[in-house]
Amino acid sequence: MTKNRPQTHFFKIIFIISILLLFSFPQTALLQTASVEYICAGTDYETPVYIIKTDYKKPAIMIVAGTHGNEKAGIKAAEYLKDNLHIERGTLIIIPKANILACEENIRCFPQEINLNRVYPGNPQGNPVEKLAYEIFNLIKKYDIGLLVDLHESIEFYRKNPKNYGQTVIIDSDDDYLFELSSFLVEEMNKEIIEDGNKYQVLVDPVKGSTAYSAHHQLGIPALTFETCRKLPLSFRIGEQIKFVKIILFKWNMLAVQK
Ligand SMILES: [Zn+2]
Repeated sequence: MTKNRPQTHFFKIIFIISILLLFSFPQTALLQTASVEYICAGTDYETPVYIIKTDYKKPAIMIVAGTHGNEKAGIKAAEYLKDNLHIERGTLIIIPKANILACEENIRCFPQEINLNRVYPGNPQGNPVEKLAYEIFNLIKKYDIGLLVDLHESIEFYRKNPKNYGQTVIIDSDDDYLFELSSFLVEEMNKEIIEDGNKYQVLVDPVKGSTAYSAHHQLGIPALTFETCRKLPLSFRIGEQIKFVKIILFKWNMLAVQK
């Protein structure tokens, strides 16, 4: 009988530790909460905005995709990220289909003659695309965004034809912070690119009326436009878009691991 006593004691300790673990793990998992809201609610342009929050609100990063509806990699990446990311701190705002009608029609712009990426900061009394830009612009202000990332694709490599932006990170001014940040991201992305022709480069090219230009020049928010080249396989491009966002989140200590 006396031989069993230490064993009983041992099992009691194991039992207490198990109970403590049971209570501590769900708390860790509950740190992140996800919700959805809609912009242009009640109109044909109504599109979801996913908000992933933690107890530590800062930093707040916004990911925009689907500004151009036929640039699929960014849209798929944004959808993957809103379903699969588990951030440890900060707030992440994800708009997978900014121009939802263009995304559904698989065309660049809807209507074709109005480019959402040229009408920022938008106009609440303007046409439906200007109203859409206005709501996205307001969202950037509402969540006190610290960095805006706009995901795009191009039909050609910038290296082959500088009229297109494939495989670039575009910044709308050459201020030191944006240049250092984009250079760091390009360096990280290029580490795993074997073919020189597929490597990324930083472009300083202010595009008035774009999401990133407006965030940076009108709100003073650092903003980047990321462009993959549609000549590369879709699955690769989606992976690249996801990787780009994850490197940023890791750098901002929002993710524990980069991959
Ligand atoms: Zn685009």
